Amino acid sequence: MSINQILENNRQWVAETTATDPDFFNRLADGQKPRYLFIGCSDSRVPASAITGTGPGEMFVHRNIANMVVHTDLNMLSVLQYAVEVLGVQDIMVVGHYGCGGVAAAAASKQYGLIDNWLTNIRDVIRMHETQFMRIKDENKRLQRLVELNVIEQVRNLAKTSIVQNSRQGANPVRLHGLVYDIKDGVLKDLEVNEDVVTELEHIYGTKAMNHAEKQVEEIHGAKVPADAKKSQQNSVNGEQATTAGAAKK
Ligand code: ZN
Repeated sequence: MSINQILENNRQWVAETTATDPDFFNRLADGQKPRYLFIGCSDSRVPASAITGTGPGEMFVHRNIANMVVHTDLNMLSVLQYAVEVLGVQDIMVVGHYGCGGVAAAAASKQYGLIDNWLTNIRDVIRMHETQFMRIKDENKRLQRLVELNVIEQVRNLAKTSIVQNSRQGANPVRLHGLVYDIKDGVLKDLEVNEDVVTELEHIYGTKAMNHAEKQVEEIHGAKVPADAKKSQQNSVNGEQATTAGAAKK
């Protein structure tokens, strides 16, 4: 299909849309108030609007290779912050898909270039679930499970962000969802990872993290942490002293 054909398609779409709803574009021009944020894969077979039955104005969209939520990705963080704090989205969905080339590449024992550094984030998911992952003999099923595990892990990564943690403290906490799309039959499935991942991480990644660490130290040492010791923990540059609770556990 040539670019001219794309432009012709667009003209037809404008004509058809205006014929059925003359005010459609005027309404959208006034602003957006989407309820959903979609974080999906760049794969051309996973078109966000088509698979969710949403139209213009209903869903804010971020896509990258293998639907990743990486904490140093300023692009993703900007989308997330704007969507949650400015647009006020209520539901965030991480949407993975079976047959994902990015996930398959991460599991393959071969290099692809720069992208390998991005795929390292999926290799981390393999590392975290290695026992379960290697137990699945069938390669196709193993990759399907990795797609699901990757979605769950990216929902967890969302839950760790200050943006989601802060939203959870407010009156209208954002809800998180992990979905998987099957390109073979078009079905979108809920992995039901929505609630617990946020609450279970609050004591480490949330604003209560410092209190929790202090409580752990108290439990282990049976006494309150002296104020000057607390200060040195906070000032610690190499982080070794700051993880007193973790170190004492070993
Ligand atoms: Zn993909």
